[in-house]
Amino acid sequence: MASAGSSHDRGSLEEPRGPQGTASGPDRPERRRAFVARGLTKVYGKGEVAVHALRGVDLELFEGELAVLLGPSGSGKSTLVNIMGGLDLPTAGQVFFHDLELTAFDERALTAYRRENVGFVFQFYNLVPSLTARENVALITDIARDPLPAEEALALVGLAERLDHFPAELSGGEQQRVAVARAIAKRPEVLLCDEPTGALDSKTGVLVLEAIERVNRELGTTTAMITHNAAIADMADRVISLADGRIAGVRENATKSPARALAW
Ligand code: ADP
Repeated sequence: MASAGSSHDRGSLEEPRGPQGTASGPDRPERRRAFVARGLTKVYGKGEVAVHALRGVDLELFEGELAVLLGPSGSGKSTLVNIMGGLDLPTAGQVFFHDLELTAFDERALTAYRRENVGFVFQFYNLVPSLTARENVALITDIARDPLPAEEALALVGLAERLDHFPAELSGGEQQRVAVARAIAKRPEVLLCDEPTGALDSKTGVLVLEAIERVNRELGTTTAMITHNAAIADMADRVISLADGRIAGVRENATKSPARALAW
């Protein structure tokens, strides 16, 4: 799993929530931080055409939580998640994954970080059309250190009966669930989902959300899910709202809605 080591201390950062990265309180169990971002800025282009995608983002993600990043198109959600996932680097600011500073990594270190720690799910499923569901997942499990068997990963997302189907024989929602199985089969510590239901109707989208919810609950995978759909936010532990490259608010859901209760 994480090559972050056992120490989660990050001595160089301020500790706004108490010692050892915890957020404990009288009625809250200890929460360890998987990610800390400080002052993240991302500018695409230069001069008059410069686009300020992130304008100084401070953010924490806690181990095992399901966080929804909510905001309109263009608010910086993908840019933020791509930086946390080691797909991109900011123009300024720092991101820590436990005690690893991702923003100090070179390409090679970022690749290793992604391979060992991060599962991605995007709006479009990107399955290999000539491979079955099982083979699409096995592409990953064949090269992972301690993977879930492909069959187990597919059962977790409700596709135990579809192992030998090709993508063209599956609905959009089923294909996306294969993509979720593929993302989590290497047992990543983190699952990053960018508009996973963006191409789906409400009914099939909910099945995908149920799969993500189950992975989060049963494997304890720290999950951040991007959406512009406010209805989805109710299934999160915390809702982090973005607007114009800034964090516009953070809300904790006292009671989470089960994904199956959502509709839009
Ligand atoms: P969201 O995920 O909330 O839709 P993005 O992070 O994709 O927002 O984009 C934030 C802003 O950055 C948008 O104005 C977008 O057009 C711009 N942007 C994103 N990626 C690039 C890029 N590679 N080059 C130039 N501008 C980009």
